[in-house]
Amino acid sequence: MTWEQTENYDVLVIGGGCAALSAAITAREKGARVLVLEVAPKCSRAGNSRHTRNMRLAHETTFPPYTGAYPEEEMWENYLKATGGVGDLDLARKVVSGSSTVLEWMMDHGVRFQPAIAGTLHLGRTNAWFLGGGKAMMNSLYRSAEDLGVDIRYEAEVVDLDIRERRFHQATVLQGGTERIGVAATAVIAAAGGFQSNLTWMKEVWGPPADNFLIRGAPHDTGTVLKILLDKGVEAVGDPTQAHMVPIDARSPKVDGGIVTRLDCVTLGIVVNKSGKRFYDEGEDFWPMRYAIWGRLVAQQDDQIAYAFIDSKTIDKFMPSVFPALSGQTIAEVAEQFNLPVDVVTATVDDYNTAVQPGEFDHTVLDGCKTKDLDPPKSHWAQRIDEPPFYGYPLRPGVTFTYFGVKVNQHAAVIMEGAEPATNIFAAGEIMSGNILPKGYIGGIGLVIGNVFGRTAGEQAAAYVKTIQQAA
Ligand SMILES: Cc1cc2nc3c(=O)[nH]c(=O)nc-3n(C[C@H](O)[C@H](O)[C@H](O)COP(=O)(O)OP(=O)(O)OC[C@H]3O[C@@H](n4cnc5c(N)ncnc54)[C@H](O)[C@@H]3O)c2cc1C
Repeated sequence: MTWEQTENYDVLVIGGGCAALSAAITAREKGARVLVLEVAPKCSRAGNSRHTRNMRLAHETTFPPYTGAYPEEEMWENYLKATGGVGDLDLARKVVSGSSTVLEWMMDHGVRFQPAIAGTLHLGRTNAWFLGGGKAMMNSLYRSAEDLGVDIRYEAEVVDLDIRERRFHQATVLQGGTERIGVAATAVIAAAGGFQSNLTWMKEVWGPPADNFLIRGAPHDTGTVLKILLDKGVEAVGDPTQAHMVPIDARSPKVDGGIVTRLDCVTLGIVVNKSGKRFYDEGEDFWPMRYAIWGRLVAQQDDQIAYAFIDSKTIDKFMPSVFPALSGQTIAEVAEQFNLPVDVVTATVDDYNTAVQPGEFDHTVLDGCKTKDLDPPKSHWAQRIDEPPFYGYPLRPGVTFTYFGVKVNQHAAVIMEGAEPATNIFAAGEIMSGNILPKGYIGGIGLVIGNVFGRTAGEQAAAYVKTIQQAA
């Protein structure tokens, strides 16, 4: 007898990241018998969530782990500015308001926090940092779930869902890559992430440029469950080309490189494309507000490659790189190692240096150190690149997660064709993030979407189970 036949579950949770565990824990605490199905093996469980470091949370607290208050209205303004306010604003407001309850919920479930460390200070006031990073955070949630009696199966891939007349009946699960089994439950919560690791799907959407994308996160986020839900009549939300994409070291692994592959030197120097030309204002805003647009900008360049140039004044002013920079005594020496047109790059740097205006460089504020009569301009942190040795990094678009997903309502119920909510199908996390993130990003909101909607989905699924049990 296989495990699925031994138990009759109330709530089936698909996925093993922050959204799934937040949902599973909540449903269990509300009395439901819960099963979590995670496609990954135990050693690499927890999807993109294991790569994370912090959460952006509205708070009035001025003591650690924060360095100051971050009122809800300020977070709301940040969200509107980053996304252009074109998402579902009711759902977005739920996330921003709900964020103020997340720290306590996490701590109640064993997660520990620490103050922001050097190099991350721009986010010290607004974001709470996990002690031990995302893996420690997720280990705590797994421990908490197990202690509560949530059942968890690894290497259990959901490959089909039986959905009829807006109602979930059972899931087909590929266990250990071979055995196909059916799992029935009274309600289901889909928390299986985006589709960024499905390179075929990415190519369908982006065309040939997708071949040059690197995927920062989990290899298992292939969008299988998202596709099944869409095929079974759930409404889609968002634009498939929209994703959180940051510039990462072009030498990084194709998948699962994680946070260390990110390069935060963009604001400190200039970035050129393979023709040796600049293409965007490197100093437009604080890096955490802007890093998510730079992956996309690199994706729009020829061959999806770009190169950051800095000098010895700034080499130690950003998160250390996992691969060493290429260096030289002249800009030409560095450009040559990248096979760039040396004369063009040298002219680009000369033009930039000439355009830099006097000012007091301060990387901790929008310092107004800018260029004059340069197109595109550099609006902040513009310093001459003139102190050897010079350094360069190759950049590729690093896809963090896709925004395209399933449409949900305030109760995390998925919306079916005809604008009706499903009876017993809920969704949380990346799989529905497109409702809130049509484009743009503010650092640390991904997990908040997962936790706030995960908890709602868990509550709603458990409440639905109760109504069914009472009616029986
Ligand atoms: C390098 C990196 C750093 C990041 N840093 C931060 C940060 O500091 N703060 C922040 O807020 N966000 C950060 N993010 C984004 C954040 O990881 C996500 O927004 C968040 O973790 C989403 O949680 P989730 O549970 O929806 O998805 P995931 O954590 O990706 O979980 C999806 C789960 O579904 C499972 N799954 C997929 N398909 C199936 C299937 N068919 N059957 C069963 N299981 C399946 C996967 O194995 C995985 O466990 C980062 C992402 C990356 C890649």
